[in-house]
Amino acid sequence: MATLVPALDALRSEFNRNFSRRDKSSDGWIGDAAHQNSNSDHNPDANGIVHAIDVDEDLRAPGATMRECVEHVVAEHRAGRDNRLTYVIYERTIWSASRDWQPRDYDGSNPHDKHAHFSAKKGANSRRSFGVEDLVKQEDLDKIFERIDLRFNQLKAEVNEVAKEAAYEVIRADADWGPGTYSVAGAVFDSKKSGDTNTRQLIELTDMTDRVESATADLKVQLAELASRIPAQLPPGPGTPDPA
Ligand SMILES: [Zn+2]
Repeated sequence: MATLVPALDALRSEFNRNFSRRDKSSDGWIGDAAHQNSNSDHNPDANGIVHAIDVDEDLRAPGATMRECVEHVVAEHRAGRDNRLTYVIYERTIWSASRDWQPRDYDGSNPHDKHAHFSAKKGANSRRSFGVEDLVKQEDLDKIFERIDLRFNQLKAEVNEVAKEAAYEVIRADADWGPGTYSVAGAVFDSKKSGDTNTRQLIELTDMTDRVESATADLKVQLAELASRIPAQLPPGPGTPDPA
């Protein structure tokens, strides 16, 4: 059975770990029938080892692009800090060890505009990090925090609005800033304070934001349903001033 050379297995895991929501539809490693008629690193060698991977360009991550990942990996090779790869192809450009990692036009039949191709040396067995996880910049983080803050405030206002319409004080107090919302907001501010937020945490936060949004949507449905059951004229409750 064919296996992938360890360095590329590690690179693929690094992409998966750091961009857990990434699109994988243009991913690949072992050559199909078309590849098998050509001399491709996607074909297993005599020992059954494949020396290439394709990684879909859609990382679905805030603050990081495949372009930045490719440029980072190429720069590490050009500077001599890494030597596990032989060439990289992305967006009609090829960078190779044999040409000192300088960019050249790539005019193969596949333009590589949906995925990046990474080829590794035979014997590239080291699984150490390629460094793609450290590519998110502080200014990108700030923008994301701003967006999350804004969204939470919007959600809070929306829920309050619905609760107000329901004219039901008990629901309003509960829906205003529930424990779920609070824990998510707390996580955002804690990681912002510690200053060591990485891509992985950001994706978790984005996931949490999605969950809060869907919980809020459910809550709004429930509130509307409750509101529809409240009689137009509420009987005076305890503490309600007598209008007379
Ligand atoms: Zn490829």
